[in-house]
Amino acid sequence: MSEKSGDGKKKVPKKFFIKKPAVNRFQQFSWILVPLISVGGLWYPRLGLLLLGMMIFFLIFSYFKGRFWCGNLCPRGAFVEIFIKPISFYGKIPPLLSSKYFRLVVVIVFMTVFTLRTRAAFVSSVTTADVLNKWGFVFVTLCLVTTVIAVIVGVLFSPRAWCTFCPMGTIQKAIYSLNKGNKGRKDPYY
Ligand code: SF4
Repeated sequence: MSEKSGDGKKKVPKKFFIKKPAVNRFQQFSWILVPLISVGGLWYPRLGLLLLGMMIFFLIFSYFKGRFWCGNLCPRGAFVEIFIKPISFYGKIPPLLSSKYFRLVVVIVFMTVFTLRTRAAFVSSVTTADVLNKWGFVFVTLCLVTTVIAVIVGVLFSPRAWCTFCPMGTIQKAIYSLNKGNKGRKDPYY
């Protein structure tokens, strides 16, 4: 027999309600960059360099505005909001994933892989076109791998579970705290 609420309607467990994505006008379009770079980049690796431009922008910006990028502009944030939120199981995020040490390890692993692969791309290239393709491909594969992880943890836990240990989020937070003007002030965007 199915469980019924006071007004006679069938009760549906809360986690099965489809949650509407909360994205702003910019993010309604910015999510396109995620498949464009991580999938399109497999055929045209230079697309990965778009990520470099975004990283330079938000890392400088975070000195003044903290994780404004995360809360308002990030294409991956928009991507998981739009596509993962409606299908997430909303399981409990394991405390390990948001722990300080785990986030630090993720940053170290990410930066080490990025640095070694960037070095290899430059060392093995002969022409400028070679550098652009190989370095672009480094960004493409990083974007693809991190997007796959973001989708898995987003479905299993909460849509933005990846954001709790995303190396870019952690670095933005650290850069914000370097600004003496922000001393004692919590990042307003996270
Ligand atoms: S934490 Fe990472 S994935 Fe999440 S919104 Fe910020 S930069 Fe984007």
